[in-house]
Amino acid sequence: MHTYTDPTEIAQYIAGQRSAGTSQRVQPVYNPATGAVSRQVRLGNVQDVNTAVAAAQAAFPAWADTSPLRRARIMFKFLELLNQHKDELAAMITAEHGKVFTDAQGEVTRGIEIVEFATGIPQLLKGDYTEQVSTGIDNWTMRQSLGVVAGITPFNFPVMVPMWMFPVAIACGNTFVLKPSPIDPSPSLFIADLLKQAGLPDGVFNVVQGDKEAVDALLDHPDVKAVSFVGSTPIANYIYETGARHGKRVQALGGAKNHMVVMPDADVNQVVDALIGAAYGSAGERCMAISVAVLVGDVADKVMPLLVERTKQLKVLNGTNLAAEMGPIVTPASHARISGYIAAGQAEGAKLLVDGRQFDAAQTGEGCEQGFWMGGTLFDHVTPEMKIYKEEIFGPVLACVRVPDFATAVQLINDHEFGNGTACFTRDGNVAREFARRIQVGMVGINVPIPVPMAWHGFGGWKRSLFGDMHAYGEEGVRFYTKQKSVMQRWPESIGKGAEFVMPTSK
Ligand code: NAD
Repeated sequence: MHTYTDPTEIAQYIAGQRSAGTSQRVQPVYNPATGAVSRQVRLGNVQDVNTAVAAAQAAFPAWADTSPLRRARIMFKFLELLNQHKDELAAMITAEHGKVFTDAQGEVTRGIEIVEFATGIPQLLKGDYTEQVSTGIDNWTMRQSLGVVAGITPFNFPVMVPMWMFPVAIACGNTFVLKPSPIDPSPSLFIADLLKQAGLPDGVFNVVQGDKEAVDALLDHPDVKAVSFVGSTPIANYIYETGARHGKRVQALGGAKNHMVVMPDADVNQVVDALIGAAYGSAGERCMAISVAVLVGDVADKVMPLLVERTKQLKVLNGTNLAAEMGPIVTPASHARISGYIAAGQAEGAKLLVDGRQFDAAQTGEGCEQGFWMGGTLFDHVTPEMKIYKEEIFGPVLACVRVPDFATAVQLINDHEFGNGTACFTRDGNVAREFARRIQVGMVGINVPIPVPMAWHGFGGWKRSLFGDMHAYGEEGVRFYTKQKSVMQRWPESIGKGAEFVMPTSK
Protein backbone atom coordinates (compact mmCIF):
# COMPACT_ATOMS: atom_id res chain seq x y z
CA MET A 1 0.00 0.00 0.00
CA HIS A 2 1.45 3.40 -0.92
CA THR A 3 0.97 6.60 1.03
CA TYR A 4 -1.81 8.94 0.05
CA THR A 5 -0.34 12.02 -1.61
CA ASP A 6 -2.77 13.14 -4.29
CA PRO A 7 -5.03 15.99 -3.07
CA THR A 8 -7.36 15.62 -6.08
CA GLU A 9 -8.13 12.06 -5.06
CA ILE A 10 -10.39 10.90 -2.26
CA ALA A 11 -9.21 7.56 -0.94
CA GLN A 12 -9.11 5.44 2.18
CA TYR A 13 -8.48 6.21 5.84
CA ILE A 14 -7.07 3.21 7.62
CA ALA A 15 -5.35 2.92 11.02
CA GLY A 16 -5.19 6.68 11.45
CA GLN A 17 -3.71 7.44 8.01
CA ARG A 18 -4.96 8.44 4.63
CA SER A 19 -4.06 5.80 2.12
CA ALA A 20 -4.49 5.22 -1.61
CA GLY A 21 -5.19 1.53 -1.01
CA THR A 22 -4.59 -1.04 -3.71
CA SER A 23 -7.60 -0.61 -5.99
CA GLN A 24 -7.16 0.60 -9.57
CA ARG A 25 -10.79 1.70 -10.00
CA VAL A 26 -11.86 5.35 -9.64
CA GLN A 27 -15.11 7.25 -10.10
CA PRO A 28 -15.51 11.00 -10.80
CA VAL A 29 -16.98 13.25 -8.11
CA TYR A 30 -19.06 16.12 -9.52
CA ASN A 31 -20.03 19.56 -8.42
CA PRO A 32 -23.72 19.21 -9.38
CA ALA A 33 -24.17 22.98 -9.65
CA THR A 34 -21.55 23.39 -12.37
CA GLY A 35 -21.49 19.88 -13.77
CA ALA A 36 -17.69 19.88 -13.45
CA VAL A 37 -15.70 16.91 -12.17
CA SER A 38 -14.02 18.20 -9.03
CA ARG A 39 -12.14 15.14 -7.79
CA GLN A 40 -11.84 11.38 -8.17
CA VAL A 41 -12.80 8.82 -5.58
CA ARG A 42 -10.87 5.56 -5.44
CA LEU A 43 -13.23 2.59 -5.17
CA GLY A 44 -11.83 0.25 -2.54
CA ASN A 45 -11.41 -3.46 -3.26
CA VAL A 46 -11.51 -6.60 -1.10
CA GLN A 47 -7.91 -6.11 -0.02
CA ASP A 48 -8.61 -2.52 1.11
CA VAL A 49 -11.61 -3.73 3.13
CA ASN A 50 -9.51 -6.52 4.67
CA THR A 51 -6.82 -4.02 5.66
CA ALA A 52 -9.39 -1.68 7.21
CA VAL A 53 -11.13 -4.47 9.11
CA ALA A 54 -7.77 -5.79 10.34
CA ALA A 55 -6.89 -2.30 11.62
CA ALA A 56 -10.28 -2.04 13.37
CA GLN A 57 -9.91 -5.55 14.82
CA ALA A 58 -6.42 -4.74 16.14
CA ALA A 59 -7.68 -1.56 17.81
CA PHE A 60 -10.73 -3.24 19.35
CA PRO A 61 -9.40 -4.88 22.57
CA ALA A 62 -7.79 -1.71 23.93
CA TRP A 63 -10.73 0.46 22.91
CA ALA A 64 -13.28 -1.90 24.45
CA ASP A 65 -11.22 -1.80 27.67
CA THR A 66 -11.11 2.01 27.71
CA SER A 67 -13.55 3.25 30.32
CA PRO A 68 -16.84 4.70 29.01
CA LEU A 69 -15.99 8.00 30.67
CA ARG A 70 -12.71 8.26 28.76
CA ARG A 71 -14.50 7.36 25.54
CA ALA A 72 -17.05 10.07 26.33
CA ARG A 73 -14.29 12.62 26.86
CA ILE A 74 -13.01 11.96 23.33
CA MET A 75 -16.58 12.48 22.08
CA PHE A 76 -16.69 15.83 23.94
CA LYS A 77 -13.47 16.90 22.22
CA PHE A 78 -14.81 15.71 18.84
CA LEU A 79 -17.99 17.71 19.50
CA GLU A 80 -15.93 20.84 20.15
CA LEU A 81 -14.02 20.35 16.89
CA LEU A 82 -17.21 19.72 14.92
CA ASN A 83 -18.66 22.98 16.21
CA GLN A 84 -15.49 24.81 15.19
CA HIS A 85 -15.53 23.29 11.67
CA LYS A 86 -19.30 23.18 11.08
CA ASP A 87 -19.28 25.54 8.12
CA GLU A 88 -16.35 23.81 6.40
CA LEU A 89 -18.29 20.55 6.57
CA ALA A 90 -21.44 22.25 5.29
CA ALA A 91 -19.50 23.78 2.36
CA MET A 92 -18.12 20.32 1.50
CA ILE A 93 -21.66 18.93 1.42
CA THR A 94 -22.89 21.71 -0.87
CA ALA A 95 -19.91 21.24 -3.20
CA GLU A 96 -20.54 17.53 -3.80
CA HIS A 97 -24.25 17.01 -3.05
CA GLY A 98 -25.57 20.37 -4.26
CA LYS A 99 -27.99 21.08 -1.39
CA VAL A 100 -28.15 24.72 -0.32
CA PHE A 101 -25.57 25.83 2.22
CA THR A 102 -28.04 26.66 5.01
CA ASP A 103 -29.66 23.23 4.61
CA ALA A 104 -26.18 21.65 4.75
CA GLN A 105 -25.55 23.56 8.00
CA GLY A 106 -28.79 22.06 9.33
CA GLU A 107 -27.60 18.60 8.32
CA VAL A 108 -24.34 19.08 10.22
CA THR A 109 -26.25 20.30 13.30
CA ARG A 110 -28.53 17.24 13.30
CA GLY A 111 -25.42 15.04 13.09
CA ILE A 112 -23.77 16.94 15.94
CA GLU A 113 -26.82 16.20 18.11
CA ILE A 114 -26.02 12.48 17.92
CA VAL A 115 -22.48 13.20 19.09
CA GLU A 116 -24.00 15.16 22.00
CA PHE A 117 -26.12 12.08 22.79
CA ALA A 118 -23.05 9.82 22.60
CA THR A 119 -21.22 11.93 25.21
CA GLY A 120 -23.76 10.54 27.70
CA ILE A 121 -22.53 6.97 27.14
CA PRO A 122 -21.53 6.19 30.76
CA GLN A 123 -25.15 6.67 31.82
CA LEU A 124 -26.47 4.78 28.78
CA LEU A 125 -24.27 1.74 29.41
CA LYS A 126 -25.15 1.52 33.09
CA GLY A 127 -26.43 -1.99 33.76
CA ASP A 128 -29.17 -3.43 35.98
CA TYR A 129 -28.51 -5.08 39.30
CA THR A 130 -30.69 -7.18 41.58
CA GLU A 131 -29.40 -7.96 45.01
CA GLN A 132 -30.36 -11.23 46.73
CA VAL A 133 -32.23 -13.02 43.91
CA SER A 134 -31.85 -16.01 46.20
CA THR A 135 -30.09 -16.32 49.52
CA GLY A 136 -26.58 -14.96 49.03
CA ILE A 137 -26.96 -14.63 45.25
CA ASP A 138 -26.98 -11.46 43.15
CA ASN A 139 -27.77 -11.10 39.46
CA TRP A 140 -26.82 -8.25 37.13
CA THR A 141 -26.87 -7.45 33.45
CA MET A 142 -24.35 -5.44 31.52
CA ARG A 143 -23.99 -4.42 27.91
CA GLN A 144 -20.72 -5.12 26.09
CA SER A 145 -19.43 -3.98 22.73
CA LEU A 146 -19.60 -6.26 19.67
CA GLY A 147 -16.23 -5.76 17.97
CA VAL A 148 -15.77 -4.32 14.46
CA VAL A 149 -18.97 -2.80 13.08
CA ALA A 150 -19.56 -1.30 9.64
CA GLY A 151 -21.66 1.60 8.35
CA ILE A 152 -22.77 1.86 4.71
CA THR A 153 -24.32 5.22 3.92
CA PRO A 154 -26.24 7.02 1.14
CA PHE A 155 -25.38 10.15 -0.83
CA ASN A 156 -28.17 12.34 0.49
CA PHE A 157 -26.79 13.02 3.99
CA PRO A 158 -23.02 12.51 3.73
CA VAL A 159 -22.43 13.90 7.24
CA MET A 160 -25.62 13.29 9.21
CA VAL A 161 -26.26 9.64 8.32
CA PRO A 162 -22.71 8.42 9.14
CA MET A 163 -23.16 10.37 12.39
CA TRP A 164 -26.34 8.39 13.15
CA MET A 165 -23.98 5.43 13.42
CA PHE A 166 -20.34 5.85 14.39
CA PRO A 167 -20.61 8.18 17.44
CA VAL A 168 -22.90 5.68 19.21
CA ALA A 169 -21.01 2.60 17.96
CA ILE A 170 -17.62 3.98 19.02
CA ALA A 171 -18.87 5.35 22.35
CA CYS A 172 -20.19 1.83 23.09
CA GLY A 173 -16.64 0.48 22.69
CA ASN A 174 -16.77 -0.86 19.13
CA THR A 175 -14.39 -0.04 16.31
CA PHE A 176 -15.83 1.16 13.02
CA VAL A 177 -15.41 0.92 9.24
CA LEU A 178 -17.41 3.49 7.27
CA LYS A 179 -18.22 2.93 3.57
CA PRO A 180 -19.68 6.26 2.45
CA SER A 181 -21.45 6.97 -0.82
CA PRO A 182 -18.94 7.48 -3.65
CA ILE A 183 -21.08 10.39 -4.89
CA ASP A 184 -20.08 12.79 -2.08
CA PRO A 185 -17.21 11.15 -0.19
CA SER A 186 -15.08 14.13 0.96
CA PRO A 187 -16.70 14.77 4.37
CA SER A 188 -15.83 11.22 5.50
CA LEU A 189 -12.09 11.96 5.46
CA PHE A 190 -12.53 15.34 7.12
CA ILE A 191 -14.48 13.63 9.92
CA ALA A 192 -11.70 11.03 10.25
CA ASP A 193 -9.15 13.84 10.70
CA LEU A 194 -11.30 15.52 13.37
CA LEU A 195 -11.68 12.23 15.28
CA LYS A 196 -7.91 11.80 15.25
CA GLN A 197 -7.42 15.36 16.50
CA ALA A 198 -9.94 14.60 19.26
CA GLY A 199 -7.61 11.84 20.47
CA LEU A 200 -9.36 8.77 19.07
CA PRO A 201 -6.77 5.94 18.89
CA ASP A 202 -5.74 4.86 15.38
CA GLY A 203 -7.84 2.05 13.94
CA VAL A 204 -10.99 2.84 15.95
CA PHE A 205 -12.50 4.72 12.97
CA ASN A 206 -11.64 3.76 9.39
CA VAL A 207 -13.04 4.71 6.00
CA VAL A 208 -13.13 2.59 2.86
CA GLN A 209 -14.47 4.42 -0.18
CA GLY A 210 -16.19 2.29 -2.76
CA ASP A 211 -19.23 0.64 -4.23
CA LYS A 212 -20.74 -2.88 -4.31
CA GLU A 213 -17.30 -4.54 -4.26
CA ALA A 214 -16.39 -2.94 -0.92
CA VAL A 215 -19.89 -3.51 0.48
CA ASP A 216 -19.81 -7.21 -0.38
CA ALA A 217 -16.36 -7.57 1.17
CA LEU A 218 -17.71 -6.07 4.41
CA LEU A 219 -20.74 -8.36 4.35
CA ASP A 220 -18.51 -11.42 3.81
CA HIS A 221 -15.91 -10.56 6.42
CA PRO A 222 -16.15 -12.77 9.52
CA ASP A 223 -14.70 -10.08 11.80
CA VAL A 224 -17.48 -7.59 10.98
CA LYS A 225 -20.04 -8.27 13.68
CA ALA A 226 -22.76 -5.78 12.74
CA VAL A 227 -23.76 -3.69 9.75
CA SER A 228 -25.77 -0.46 9.76
CA PHE A 229 -27.06 0.51 6.34
CA VAL A 230 -29.05 3.47 5.04
CA GLY A 231 -30.05 3.70 1.39
CA SER A 232 -32.64 2.52 -1.10
CA THR A 233 -35.01 -0.37 -0.35
CA PRO A 234 -33.69 -2.98 -2.83
CA ILE A 235 -30.14 -2.56 -1.49
CA ALA A 236 -31.37 -2.46 2.14
CA ASN A 237 -33.17 -5.75 1.55
CA TYR A 238 -30.02 -7.27 0.02
CA ILE A 239 -27.82 -6.03 2.88
CA TYR A 240 -30.23 -7.42 5.47
CA GLU A 241 -30.48 -10.86 3.88
CA THR A 242 -26.78 -11.18 3.09
CA GLY A 243 -25.64 -9.84 6.47
CA ALA A 244 -28.04 -12.12 8.35
CA ARG A 245 -26.88 -15.14 6.32
CA HIS A 246 -23.35 -14.37 7.49
CA GLY A 247 -24.53 -14.26 11.10
CA LYS A 248 -24.28 -10.51 11.54
CA ARG A 249 -26.59 -8.06 13.26
CA VAL A 250 -28.11 -5.82 10.62
CA GLN A 251 -30.17 -2.66 10.67
CA ALA A 252 -30.96 -1.60 7.10
CA LEU A 253 -32.97 1.56 6.57
CA GLY A 254 -34.56 1.83 3.14
CA GLY A 255 -36.57 4.11 0.90
CA ALA A 256 -39.74 6.06 1.47
CA LYS A 257 -42.89 7.62 0.09
CA ASN A 258 -43.98 10.06 2.76
CA HIS A 259 -47.57 11.30 2.74
CA MET A 260 -48.84 14.49 4.30
CA VAL A 261 -52.56 14.48 5.06
CA VAL A 262 -54.24 17.88 4.92
CA MET A 263 -57.57 18.07 6.76
CA PRO A 264 -60.19 20.65 5.75
CA ASP A 265 -59.74 22.52 9.06
CA ALA A 266 -55.97 23.05 8.59
CA ASP A 267 -54.49 26.52 8.13
CA VAL A 268 -54.02 26.76 4.36
CA ASN A 269 -51.01 29.07 4.42
CA GLN A 270 -49.21 26.90 6.95
CA VAL A 271 -50.00 23.85 4.82
CA VAL A 272 -48.58 25.44 1.66
CA ASP A 273 -45.40 26.55 3.47
CA ALA A 274 -44.99 23.03 4.89
CA LEU A 275 -45.54 21.30 1.55
CA ILE A 276 -43.21 23.58 -0.40
CA GLY A 277 -40.39 23.18 2.12
CA ALA A 278 -40.86 19.44 2.67
CA ALA A 279 -41.32 18.49 -0.99
CA TYR A 280 -38.64 20.66 -2.61
CA GLY A 281 -36.10 21.22 0.20
CA SER A 282 -32.85 19.46 -0.72
CA ALA A 283 -34.45 18.91 -4.17
CA GLY A 284 -36.67 16.23 -2.60
CA GLU A 285 -33.58 14.06 -2.03
CA ARG A 286 -34.45 13.34 1.59
CA CYS A 287 -35.81 10.08 2.94
CA MET A 288 -38.21 12.20 5.02
CA ALA A 289 -39.25 14.50 2.14
CA ILE A 290 -43.00 14.75 1.58
CA SER A 291 -43.66 13.32 -1.87
CA VAL A 292 -47.44 12.84 -1.60
CA ALA A 293 -50.00 15.40 -0.39
CA VAL A 294 -53.29 13.74 0.59
CA LEU A 295 -55.92 16.45 0.32
CA VAL A 296 -59.10 15.64 2.26
CA GLY A 297 -62.56 16.90 1.22
CA ASP A 298 -62.69 20.36 -0.34
CA VAL A 299 -59.29 21.50 0.94
CA ALA A 300 -57.65 20.79 -2.47
CA ASP A 301 -59.49 23.68 -4.08
CA LYS A 302 -57.97 26.10 -1.57
CA VAL A 303 -54.47 24.60 -1.51
CA MET A 304 -53.76 23.83 -5.20
CA PRO A 305 -53.76 27.39 -6.62
CA LEU A 306 -51.32 28.53 -3.91
CA LEU A 307 -49.12 25.48 -4.43
CA VAL A 308 -48.89 26.13 -8.16
CA GLU A 309 -47.86 29.73 -7.58
CA ARG A 310 -45.27 28.85 -4.94
CA THR A 311 -43.78 25.95 -6.92
CA LYS A 312 -43.22 28.27 -9.90
CA GLN A 313 -41.57 30.86 -7.62
CA LEU A 314 -39.04 28.45 -6.08
CA LYS A 315 -35.57 30.00 -6.04
CA VAL A 316 -33.51 27.27 -7.70
CA LEU A 317 -29.89 28.44 -7.54
CA ASN A 318 -26.35 27.30 -6.84
CA GLY A 319 -26.43 26.11 -3.23
CA THR A 320 -23.57 28.46 -2.35
CA ASN A 321 -25.92 31.40 -3.04
CA LEU A 322 -27.57 32.23 0.28
CA ALA A 323 -30.79 33.21 -1.55
CA ALA A 324 -31.18 29.64 -2.88
CA GLU A 325 -34.15 27.55 -1.71
CA MET A 326 -33.30 24.53 -3.83
CA GLY A 327 -30.05 23.43 -5.48
CA PRO A 328 -29.35 21.09 -8.39
CA ILE A 329 -30.05 17.35 -8.68
CA VAL A 330 -27.14 15.24 -7.47
CA THR A 331 -26.10 13.42 -10.68
CA PRO A 332 -27.06 13.21 -14.37
CA ALA A 333 -28.36 9.68 -13.70
CA SER A 334 -30.72 10.94 -10.97
CA HIS A 335 -31.82 13.77 -13.26
CA ALA A 336 -32.69 11.27 -15.99
CA ARG A 337 -34.54 8.99 -13.54
CA ILE A 338 -36.67 11.86 -12.16
CA SER A 339 -37.43 13.16 -15.69
CA GLY A 340 -38.56 9.63 -16.60
CA TYR A 341 -41.00 9.60 -13.67
CA ILE A 342 -42.45 12.95 -14.71
CA ALA A 343 -43.04 11.59 -18.23
CA ALA A 344 -44.63 8.45 -16.76
CA GLY A 345 -46.99 10.51 -14.58
CA GLN A 346 -48.12 12.48 -17.59
CA ALA A 347 -48.62 9.32 -19.64
CA GLU A 348 -50.67 7.71 -16.87
CA GLY A 349 -53.06 10.67 -16.77
CA ALA A 350 -52.01 12.66 -13.71
CA LYS A 351 -52.47 16.39 -14.17
CA LEU A 352 -49.07 18.06 -14.57
CA LEU A 353 -49.50 21.57 -13.15
CA VAL A 354 -45.84 22.59 -12.96
CA ASP A 355 -43.17 20.81 -15.01
CA GLY A 356 -39.67 21.02 -13.51
CA ARG A 357 -38.14 19.76 -16.77
CA GLN A 358 -38.95 23.15 -18.32
CA PHE A 359 -36.68 24.94 -15.86
CA ASP A 360 -34.24 27.31 -17.54
CA ALA A 361 -30.70 26.63 -16.26
CA ALA A 362 -29.63 30.11 -17.39
CA GLN A 363 -31.44 31.49 -14.30
CA THR A 364 -28.95 29.79 -12.02
CA GLY A 365 -26.11 32.17 -12.85
CA GLU A 366 -22.79 32.20 -14.63
CA GLY A 367 -20.78 28.99 -14.62
CA CYS A 368 -23.79 26.83 -13.80
CA GLU A 369 -25.06 26.23 -17.34
CA GLN A 370 -23.80 22.64 -17.33
CA GLY A 371 -25.19 21.81 -13.88
CA PHE A 372 -27.83 19.15 -13.25
CA TRP A 373 -30.78 21.53 -12.99
CA MET A 374 -34.47 20.96 -12.63
CA GLY A 375 -37.31 22.99 -11.14
CA GLY A 376 -40.07 21.81 -8.83
CA THR A 377 -42.75 19.56 -10.34
CA LEU A 378 -46.36 19.47 -9.18
CA PHE A 379 -48.95 16.84 -10.11
CA ASP A 380 -52.66 16.89 -9.20
CA HIS A 381 -55.24 14.06 -9.49
CA VAL A 382 -52.67 11.35 -8.84
CA THR A 383 -54.20 7.93 -8.10
CA PRO A 384 -52.81 4.92 -6.19
CA GLU A 385 -52.31 2.74 -9.30
CA MET A 386 -49.87 5.19 -10.88
CA LYS A 387 -46.13 4.56 -10.89
CA ILE A 388 -45.48 8.10 -9.59
CA TYR A 389 -47.63 7.21 -6.56
CA LYS A 390 -46.25 3.76 -5.90
CA GLU A 391 -42.51 4.27 -6.38
CA GLU A 392 -39.95 6.46 -4.68
CA ILE A 393 -38.91 9.21 -7.13
CA PHE A 394 -36.35 10.87 -4.84
CA GLY A 395 -36.51 14.25 -6.55
CA PRO A 396 -38.44 17.54 -6.42
CA VAL A 397 -41.79 16.06 -7.48
CA LEU A 398 -44.95 16.46 -5.39
CA ALA A 399 -47.92 14.22 -6.17
CA CYS A 400 -51.32 15.40 -4.90
CA VAL A 401 -54.03 12.82 -4.24
CA ARG A 402 -57.61 13.88 -3.47
CA VAL A 403 -59.61 11.77 -1.01
CA PRO A 404 -63.12 12.21 0.42
CA ASP A 405 -62.42 11.69 4.12
CA PHE A 406 -59.93 10.99 6.90
CA ALA A 407 -60.52 7.22 6.96
CA THR A 408 -59.64 6.94 3.25
CA ALA A 409 -56.48 8.97 3.83
CA VAL A 410 -55.36 6.64 6.64
CA GLN A 411 -56.13 3.53 4.58
CA LEU A 412 -54.19 4.88 1.61
CA ILE A 413 -51.08 5.38 3.73
CA ASN A 414 -51.42 2.05 5.51
CA ASP A 415 -51.70 0.23 2.17
CA HIS A 416 -48.44 1.70 0.84
CA GLU A 417 -45.35 -0.52 0.82
CA PHE A 418 -43.22 2.13 2.56
CA GLY A 419 -43.71 3.45 6.09
CA ASN A 420 -40.89 5.86 6.85
CA GLY A 421 -42.44 9.22 7.75
CA THR A 422 -45.84 10.87 7.54
CA ALA A 423 -47.63 14.01 8.70
CA CYS A 424 -51.16 15.22 9.38
CA PHE A 425 -52.13 18.88 9.34
CA THR A 426 -55.27 19.59 11.38
CA ARG A 427 -56.61 21.70 14.25
CA ASP A 428 -58.65 18.79 15.61
CA GLY A 429 -56.99 17.06 18.57
CA ASN A 430 -58.95 13.85 18.19
CA VAL A 431 -58.11 13.54 14.48
CA ALA A 432 -54.46 14.11 15.36
CA ARG A 433 -54.58 11.50 18.10
CA GLU A 434 -56.33 8.93 15.91
CA PHE A 435 -53.82 9.57 13.11
CA ALA A 436 -50.82 9.01 15.38
CA ARG A 437 -52.38 5.80 16.78
CA ARG A 438 -53.71 4.20 13.59
CA ILE A 439 -51.03 5.00 11.04
CA GLN A 440 -48.63 2.19 10.02
CA VAL A 441 -45.58 4.42 9.76
CA GLY A 442 -42.51 4.71 11.99
CA MET A 443 -42.22 8.50 12.32
CA VAL A 444 -45.28 10.74 12.57
CA GLY A 445 -45.65 14.53 12.51
CA ILE A 446 -48.73 16.37 13.74
CA ASN A 447 -48.52 19.74 12.01
CA VAL A 448 -44.80 18.94 11.60
CA PRO A 449 -44.00 18.00 7.98
CA ILE A 450 -40.58 16.37 8.53
CA PRO A 451 -40.65 14.70 11.95
CA VAL A 452 -37.02 13.53 12.17
CA PRO A 453 -36.75 12.30 15.78
CA MET A 454 -34.31 13.87 18.19
CA ALA A 455 -31.02 12.15 19.00
CA TRP A 456 -32.32 10.38 22.12
CA HIS A 457 -35.52 9.05 20.46
CA GLY A 458 -34.09 7.03 17.55
CA PHE A 459 -34.89 7.04 13.83
CA GLY A 460 -36.58 4.33 11.82
CA GLY A 461 -39.43 3.53 9.48
CA TRP A 462 -41.82 0.59 9.27
CA LYS A 463 -42.69 -1.88 6.51
CA ARG A 464 -40.19 -1.84 3.62
CA SER A 465 -38.53 1.31 4.95
CA LEU A 466 -36.56 -0.68 7.54
CA PHE A 467 -35.19 -4.22 7.64
CA GLY A 468 -34.17 -5.28 11.13
CA ASP A 469 -35.42 -4.77 14.65
CA MET A 470 -33.64 -1.68 15.89
CA HIS A 471 -33.97 1.93 14.85
CA ALA A 472 -30.88 4.07 14.30
CA TYR A 473 -29.31 6.06 17.19
CA GLY A 474 -30.98 6.80 20.54
CA GLU A 475 -31.30 3.97 23.04
CA GLU A 476 -32.13 1.54 20.23
CA GLY A 477 -28.73 2.44 18.73
CA VAL A 478 -27.02 1.63 22.02
CA ARG A 479 -28.81 -1.73 22.11
CA PHE A 480 -27.88 -2.45 18.50
CA TYR A 481 -24.19 -1.80 19.12
CA THR A 482 -23.99 -3.82 22.37
CA LYS A 483 -24.92 -7.28 23.52
CA GLN A 484 -26.36 -8.08 26.88
CA LYS A 485 -24.61 -10.32 29.37
CA SER A 486 -26.19 -11.54 32.58
CA VAL A 487 -24.00 -12.48 35.53
CA MET A 488 -25.17 -14.44 38.55
CA GLN A 489 -22.83 -14.53 41.50
CA ARG A 490 -22.47 -15.97 44.94
CA TRP A 491 -19.54 -16.38 47.30
CA PRO A 492 -18.33 -19.57 48.97
CA GLU A 493 -19.89 -18.60 52.33
CA SER A 494 -23.40 -18.89 50.86
CA ILE A 495 -22.96 -22.05 48.79
CA GLY A 496 -25.04 -24.91 50.24
CA LYS A 497 -23.91 -28.48 50.64
CA GLY A 498 -24.39 -31.20 48.00
CA ALA A 499 -25.26 -31.27 44.32
CA GLU A 500 -28.58 -29.73 43.23
CA PHE A 501 -30.54 -31.62 40.58
CA VAL A 502 -33.63 -29.43 40.37
CA MET A 503 -34.00 -26.15 38.49
CA PRO A 504 -32.73 -23.47 40.90
CA THR A 505 -35.47 -21.22 42.29
CA SER A 506 -35.39 -18.34 44.72
CA LYS A 507 -34.85 -19.45 48.32
P1 NAD B 1 -28.27 3.52 -2.62
O1 NAD B 1 -29.07 2.40 -2.09
O2 NAD B 1 -28.01 3.61 -4.07
O3 NAD B 1 -26.81 3.51 -1.93
C1 NAD B 1 -26.64 3.41 -0.53
C2 NAD B 1 -25.30 2.76 -0.24
O4 NAD B 1 -25.29 1.43 -0.80
C3 NAD B 1 -24.12 3.48 -0.86
O5 NAD B 1 -23.05 3.45 0.04
C4 NAD B 1 -23.83 2.68 -2.12
O6 NAD B 1 -22.48 2.76 -2.51
C5 NAD B 1 -24.20 1.27 -1.72
N1 NAD B 1 -24.69 0.46 -2.83
C6 NAD B 1 -25.33 0.89 -3.95
N2 NAD B 1 -25.63 -0.14 -4.76
C7 NAD B 1 -25.20 -1.26 -4.14
C8 NAD B 1 -25.24 -2.65 -4.47
N3 NAD B 1 -25.78 -3.08 -5.60
N4 NAD B 1 -24.70 -3.53 -3.60
C9 NAD B 1 -24.15 -3.10 -2.45
N5 NAD B 1 -24.09 -1.79 -2.09
C10 NAD B 1 -24.59 -0.89 -2.91
O7 NAD B 1 -28.94 4.86 -2.07
P2 NAD B 1 -28.59 6.37 -2.44
O8 NAD B 1 -29.05 6.68 -3.82
O9 NAD B 1 -27.18 6.68 -2.07
O10 NAD B 1 -29.52 7.13 -1.39
C11 NAD B 1 -30.87 7.41 -1.61
C12 NAD B 1 -31.76 6.37 -1.00
O11 NAD B 1 -31.51 6.26 0.39
C13 NAD B 1 -33.24 6.70 -1.12
O12 NAD B 1 -33.93 5.51 -1.42
C14 NAD B 1 -33.61 7.19 0.27
O13 NAD B 1 -34.95 7.06 0.63
C15 NAD B 1 -32.74 6.32 1.11
N6 NAD B 1 -32.52 6.90 2.42
C16 NAD B 1 -33.17 6.35 3.46
C17 NAD B 1 -33.01 6.88 4.72
C18 NAD B 1 -33.73 6.29 5.89
O14 NAD B 1 -33.40 6.65 6.99
N7 NAD B 1 -34.68 5.39 5.71
C19 NAD B 1 -32.18 7.98 4.91
C20 NAD B 1 -31.50 8.52 3.82
C21 NAD B 1 -31.68 7.96 2.57
